Amino acid sequence: MSAVRVRIAPSPSGFLHVGTARTAVYNFLFARHHGGKFILRIEDTDTARSSEEMVQVILDGMKWLGLNWDEGPIFQSRRNELYKEWGKKLAESGHSYWCFCTPEELEERRKAAISQKIAWKYDRKCLKLSQEEIEANKKAGKPAALRLKVPEGKTGFTDLVGGELERENADIEDMVCLRSDGRPTYNFAAVVDDYDMKISHVIRGNDHISNTFKQILLYRALNLPVPEFAHLPLILGADKKKVSKRQGAVAVTDYRDTGFLPETMLNFLALLGWSPGDGREIMSREELIQAFSLARVGAANPVFDLQKLEWMNGEYIRRLPDEELLARAFPFLEKASLVKPEEKKSKRDYFLRVLPLLKERCRLLSDFAEMGDYFFKEEFDYDPKGAEKQFADPQTASRLEKVAAAWKAVEPFSKEKTEEALRLLAEKEGEKAAAFIHPIRLAITGKTMGPALFDLVEVLGRKRVLARLSRAVEYLKSRTPAAKT
Ligand code: GLU
Repeated sequence: MSAVRVRIAPSPSGFLHVGTARTAVYNFLFARHHGGKFILRIEDTDTARSSEEMVQVILDGMKWLGLNWDEGPIFQSRRNELYKEWGKKLAESGHSYWCFCTPEELEERRKAAISQKIAWKYDRKCLKLSQEEIEANKKAGKPAALRLKVPEGKTGFTDLVGGELERENADIEDMVCLRSDGRPTYNFAAVVDDYDMKISHVIRGNDHISNTFKQILLYRALNLPVPEFAHLPLILGADKKKVSKRQGAVAVTDYRDTGFLPETMLNFLALLGWSPGDGREIMSREELIQAFSLARVGAANPVFDLQKLEWMNGEYIRRLPDEELLARAFPFLEKASLVKPEEKKSKRDYFLRVLPLLKERCRLLSDFAEMGDYFFKEEFDYDPKGAEKQFADPQTASRLEKVAAAWKAVEPFSKEKTEEALRLLAEKEGEKAAAFIHPIRLAITGKTMGPALFDLVEVLGRKRVLARLSRAVEYLKSRTPAAKT
């Protein structure tokens, strides 16, 4: 394929949401697969609805996903001269006409048509104006918009995803290309820019198919080559409806803040409508680039499955080298006020022992703070349900005291030695080890689940373990009289 050039063209009137991010991923993978260029264009001609802040959020999202663009960001708002120039060409092409209808007039006619149950499209009133009428309107300074004159016949193209698509031109409106204030409409600016940027393939959501017919008519009116088109099926939520805010139509950077890894997100988005065809699911950036093709984009609407995303993130977390895991998880521990910035260095060895213990159960980077808070603070509550069960036996306090006594002397304070001592104790007491193990876990972590007990005992160390056992004993003793009354 010669000179592949593709683009992502977000409008900064909203965040970089999942749909746009998926489109960006496909464009990126396609460009890299073919050794082409990936261009970022910001469609900000709608100045009232665009904002600097949104542009920043979009750029942040793109950078976070590692969707490095080769050219841009190109801002449409700075290209008015170009649109004016092409507007002039369109005006002189013989395929357009000036429209003097005011918004109020249009609205009135639209309502009238609807009340008669006629589908409204521009009624070509101004196409019927004589040359004199046009001149008179212009002289009188009436605002004029430039409309495309849609020819008779049909318009069709071969979609690289959807196959042959065709539409009756009679169903296509003579759309406005230049507004009466001189600003281009989306369709006009998109055609001018895609031509100017030498875009070879337009890959975007299939909600743009009706625009594509209009854009093809515009290319033809301007006598320009028509690029290839590939329209991606829309992403649905778990309820099979268009993806909702709760399920995914939020900023991609929100996923970052929730604790997802960018490599998970890239992998997951790539699989929303495409698959390599060999059953692989966990794929690195390089593998995705290597395997990607538009031919394997499915026609069915992909479903955004949050549980799958979380599962995948857990897989990626477990594959991270420990140092890398620390770098990624630390900000989340900081956010939860469990660590101080300077501790990243001073307690590095400790963190490198803690995080691998926790990672088996974690699906989000934020889970480390939630599931492992006891590694970073001394004050924690006992899980109430767990306490009801594991602290119920009146013997618990005395058992914990015996464990503390046994562990006081254990040398070294290793997982093997503490386990050995505990099993010996249980045997001596004629009890099952579990009668000790569960209350110990609750006493030293506040939780009923977590890493293997003796692993975490070793990592917490003797001093903290004994202090926590004695704290639990005190708690249990203070509770006992109340329980009796
Ligand atoms: N600004 C349009 C959007 O965000 C771009 C559509 C296109 O790719 O042409 O939907």
